[in-house]
Amino acid sequence: MKDNVFLEDQKKFGLADYMNFDINGREHMGSTVPLAVYRLLEYSVREELTERFGREIQADIFRCAGRRAGRFFAETMLDMTLSYHAFMAQLQAQMAEMKIGVLRIEKYEEKTGKMVLTVSEDADCSGLPLLGEYVCNFDEGFIAEILSIYTGKYYIAEEVDCWATGDRVCRFCAEIKE
Ligand SMILES: [Zn+2]
Repeated sequence: MKDNVFLEDQKKFGLADYMNFDINGREHMGSTVPLAVYRLLEYSVREELTERFGREIQADIFRCAGRRAGRFFAETMLDMTLSYHAFMAQLQAQMAEMKIGVLRIEKYEEKTGKMVLTVSEDADCSGLPLLGEYVCNFDEGFIAEILSIYTGKYYIAEEVDCWATGDRVCRFCAEIKE
């Protein structure tokens, strides 16, 4: 086998390296792809992981990947110094801008930090048939990590309603885990 000078180096690249792309590389195709392509990637990876490792590990991998994405999103696209209301407004605006979905804060308990958030027109699940399962594990991690970084406290988020369970929005309960 021919030596590959790039492999010899064994440099470990991270999310920030892969996200540091030059958009001019898609001169004619542009910076967006259809939702069907996003879901094709998402659900084929999901199916492969579920077949290999079972549903629970698949969900955990998606949740942890969501946390990585949330961290990147927070560090590169959000101003972490804003006050709570301004920060949430900014998060809503950025999630809409990136076409992730329409975020709403349904409840916020200042004392405990508990939150109920909804995402409608969610990129991951809106319009799916009734499958009877919660599919937005990636979003659970994504939301939890953004809240964790902003507050400095470790948040977890759980999806309690989803388009795939018959609702019209995805609803997430987020709370601080000591
Ligand atoms: Zn959902």
